[in-house]
Amino acid sequence: MEVYKFGGASVKDAQGVRNFLATLKALDKKEVLVVISAMGKMTNALESVVNSYLGRREDLQEKLEVVYTFHQGLIQDLGFQSGDEVYDVLTAVFDEIHSFLKHNNSTDYDYVYDQIVGQGEFLSTRICSAFIKENNYDHDWLDVRKCIKTNSDFRRARIDWDKTCNLINERVNKAGVTITQGFLGSDNYGRTTTLGREGSDYTAGIFAYCLDAEEVSIFKDVEGVLNADPREFESTSLIERISYKEAIEMAFYGASVIHPKTLQPLQRKGIPLKVRSFSDPRKQGTLIKSGLDIVPKIPCFIVKKEQILISISDREFHFVMEEDISDIFRLLHQFKMKVNLIQNSALSFSVCIENNFNNFNSLFKALEPKYMVKYNRDLTLYTIRHFNKDAISSIEQGREVLLKQRSRETVQIITKSKD
Ligand code: ASP
Ligand code: MG
Repeated sequence: MEVYKFGGASVKDAQGVRNFLATLKALDKKEVLVVISAMGKMTNALESVVNSYLGRREDLQEKLEVVYTFHQGLIQDLGFQSGDEVYDVLTAVFDEIHSFLKHNNSTDYDYVYDQIVGQGEFLSTRICSAFIKENNYDHDWLDVRKCIKTNSDFRRARIDWDKTCNLINERVNKAGVTITQGFLGSDNYGRTTTLGREGSDYTAGIFAYCLDAEEVSIFKDVEGVLNADPREFESTSLIERISYKEAIEMAFYGASVIHPKTLQPLQRKGIPLKVRSFSDPRKQGTLIKSGLDIVPKIPCFIVKKEQILISISDREFHFVMEEDISDIFRLLHQFKMKVNLIQNSALSFSVCIENNFNNFNSLFKALEPKYMVKYNRDLTLYTIRHFNKDAISSIEQGREVLLKQRSRETVQIITKSKD
């Protein structure tokens, strides 16, 4: 079997969904598990619904309307006629959302988030499935929550591998094409969980691992893995081939091309991963498998924005010792901070973090009684793998550098963001 994954940017409009069908036909594989994400920017739009709902804001209906109208418009653009079943699907999903919002009394942001945001993947797979069915493309649609079992750590659920592999092997038709949702799972109570933003790649990795797939292809709106994000850098080059290890390093530093967790299961079974262009699927793209580190060997740039650099020191100017550091890390963990860089000196301990769960103020309050805490917000963290002098100066030029850390293959530079 092969596993394909199509991201939200691939199926962002009717043209994308048509191209999705064209791609399936062109590649003409008979045994494929296809993972699809929410369409276009619908995950963000659903996040806004959650924020509005839990923030008890008046724009809730408006936010819901955005999601509804987008899908309705897309269905229309695909040429479905009113009365077609796919409209009932849309209505049913919205009935479910409304009913959840009405009856829910949990204020747990992460739980509510998963119940609402997960609907994006349902809509997208149902619409894609309806469209290819309409065009006589034979396949099954699978509710991924029946296969991917996780713990109840909402928004970053962990996989129960044994259960998941058993269920996948029981439920996936290995002799045909199956379409399913990325990003989602369910816990022991059957509640929807999510695997973290951009988690659909990971879903593809999970299926590939459990199905012993021959290879995984991730279709992107770029040619393959590039050495920098084209939205941030003017000139970029295609990486033809990289090892799992190098790709894991890059993902760890935040390269958004592949979700960090995706590669581990593939590496364990030696399943190659191809990152391919959605608009031209027959092109080579990037091949990730064990072997050569990176071809061609050029500097790779990874940018992370909205970083906070906190520097923590003892109020009495004592050294920051192991005990303090362990205390600080316990709090970072407790407040679900993503730590991107650590630097230690005699009198202060600095960490560059991401405030993904909006807990920064609570963290600050917890640290303050014991430590002197200074911080800078809205910073940018640049990581350069396989750096050279030119690569470093291209980042430093015209920017205020707050911190720089260097190891053999990697330089990390924290700068104030340019206005
Ligand atoms: N739709 C989810 C997100 O945008 C998962 C994914 O796209 O991989 O984060
Ligand atoms: Mg997405």
